[in-house]
Amino acid sequence: MAHKILVVEDEPGIADNIRYALSTEGFEVVWSATGQEALDVLKSDGISLVVLDIGLPDRNGFELCKDIRRTSAIPVIFLTARADEIDRVVGLEIGGDDYVVKPFSPRELSARVKAVLRRANAPSDGGGSAPFQVDERKKRIAYFGRPLDLSRYEYRILHVLIGKPGWVFSRDQLMDLAWEEPEASLDRTVDTHIKTLRAKLKEIRPKLDPIRTHRGLGYSLKESP
Ligand code: CA
Repeated sequence: MAHKILVVEDEPGIADNIRYALSTEGFEVVWSATGQEALDVLKSDGISLVVLDIGLPDRNGFELCKDIRRTSAIPVIFLTARADEIDRVVGLEIGGDDYVVKPFSPRELSARVKAVLRRANAPSDGGGSAPFQVDERKKRIAYFGRPLDLSRYEYRILHVLIGKPGWVFSRDQLMDLAWEEPEASLDRTVDTHIKTLRAKLKEIRPKLDPIRTHRGLGYSLKESP
């Protein structure tokens, strides 16, 4: 089945080029010219990846990505005219997966889309070798095939970590990505949830600790447990 790609870009000329490039590669393309439209499309359609322009008429692409991240780990590739800005924020603060700097060649964008999709789909195509399986629809995570009994916050934290193995997330970032009202919580709460999460993972594999603590920085999921 063809992957459906959502292109969020307000300039019709650029959107057309992207649509052409991606459809010749066999992707199905849905186009939104505004952030609001994009959020509506994401609510309803089976989109596999979002190509997201940062300069949109109704809102900033970074903010939109943060909104998307509150409910979804869908891969996001940013389009930007300013490489200096995005380098700093793309992975850590916003939760994007990659970026392409304008002007870009259609071939380059297609290559990035394919690479990100491959990475994103690797865990479920890994023939059971990946320790975590996420069921987005039921909001459940299994570990080595055993369903984890997680609280809402544990689920969200683990979901964020699984979305980007190897990335170090600070407590602030985890709160921002996992909590509805980050101001209402304290740093320590993140530590507490990580502690209970680890205990639950240990029950299934006592010798493994897939979550790594980075002193003074935060937490990451080990790329191989
Ligand atoms: Ca734009």
